[in-house]
Amino acid sequence: MNSNESCDAPDRLLTLTEAIAAALHSISPIHATETVPLCDAYGRVLAADLPARLDAPPYDNSAMDGFALHRADLKPDAPTRLPVIGDALAGHPYAGTVPQGAAVRITTGGLIPEGPDAVVMQEQCLIAPDERWIELEARTATRLRLGENIRRRGEDVRAGAVLLPGGLQLRPQDVALAAGQGYAVLTVARQLRVAVASTGDELHSPGVDLPPGAIYESNRYILMGLLKRLGCVVTDLGILRDDREAMLPVLRDAAATHDVLLTSGGVSVGAADWVKDVIAELGTIQFWRLAVKPGKPVTFGRIGDCLVLGLPGNPVSVMVSFLLFARPLLRKRMAATPTEPLRVRAVADFSFRRKPGRREWLRARLRPDPERGWLAMIYPNNSSGALSSLSWADGLIDLPEDCAGIAPGDTVDYLPFSGLGVE
Ligand code: AMP
Ligand code: MG
Repeated sequence: MNSNESCDAPDRLLTLTEAIAAALHSISPIHATETVPLCDAYGRVLAADLPARLDAPPYDNSAMDGFALHRADLKPDAPTRLPVIGDALAGHPYAGTVPQGAAVRITTGGLIPEGPDAVVMQEQCLIAPDERWIELEARTATRLRLGENIRRRGEDVRAGAVLLPGGLQLRPQDVALAAGQGYAVLTVARQLRVAVASTGDELHSPGVDLPPGAIYESNRYILMGLLKRLGCVVTDLGILRDDREAMLPVLRDAAATHDVLLTSGGVSVGAADWVKDVIAELGTIQFWRLAVKPGKPVTFGRIGDCLVLGLPGNPVSVMVSFLLFARPLLRKRMAATPTEPLRVRAVADFSFRRKPGRREWLRARLRPDPERGWLAMIYPNNSSGALSSLSWADGLIDLPEDCAGIAPGDTVDYLPFSGLGVE
């Protein structure tokens, strides 16, 4: 006897929003941190606010290749000729003060020497063949503003300000910002250790011959890829048989050594669906089944300190429930700041009939239309077993619980995969 009878369906299924709120409430971010060199920091979660050590830029410098000069020297009604008395190249500051009536050649990033208060672009100057003087036309002179082409010390970042907020999952530009402040290492949250198992007697790994009634298994390849993109360390538990006694020790041992256990399959109401039973035996189930489509039988619980997410078996359900349900929970456990998935409005270029009640996601793509803006198309086969629909799609259309159907021209919400961490 499995637990489907004991886990009575509640009168009303939890909505996704309710389920996420309940689960987030019970999840605490990991505290353990480690210090990593910058080149290993991409995708890691910054453990605490990182202060700016320096003003950036650290000194007034030129935004252009040109000549640093005193603006007051420029004549508004006749050409101005100025002697060039030296160079202020990037990395080679001009030693000394540039007096009134003189200019120095400067390159982008070069320190503005004492004296000058503007930089004129070299393209706007007549330069003597021996480069001993420059001449500016009156028109150029009158247009040059005080401080023009000078990047002021601290205009980008002020020393002491928060450079990067704790909880940020570091992108290349964030790591670069830290590098620009002289940080060689960063303190980040320890990576989540996540174990992944598929369940089902019909499943075989790719690379073997299939017996009758069997299929190649695909869910681990969705989950392992998504988890790696999220920055988790993944353990592959392989394929577990639909056998309570075989499953139990594997899940127990994995739960003892991982932060999160992700299974797929075996959480529905079939005679071979043992995953819920095993979780309930080893730990607790906080909830089972959500008012969503696909992904209704999602199970959430814990075994000791290990979060357990029992995802459904169908590949589309696995990906959708991972992105919309599991991902925000894992991000909280990873100590990452919560983010809302990017949501864009699009015009439906399809019709879709449905019964209100469950929140539903359709595999979709956008295409631009010169008159109507972004048009959303959906995949013709809406089955949650149609894995090719996920490969075809670039995102999901999000239909709210009360939606009674879509007609061409309706406005729909589109969630690009890229806003859910899938590039
Ligand atoms: P279940 O929830 O275990 O009844 O599985 C639902 C459907 O998903 C069945 O058709 C399974 O064969 C299929 N399925 C379950 N796990 C996998 C997997 N890892 N890869 C591909 N299909 C799967
Ligand atoms: Mg199964």
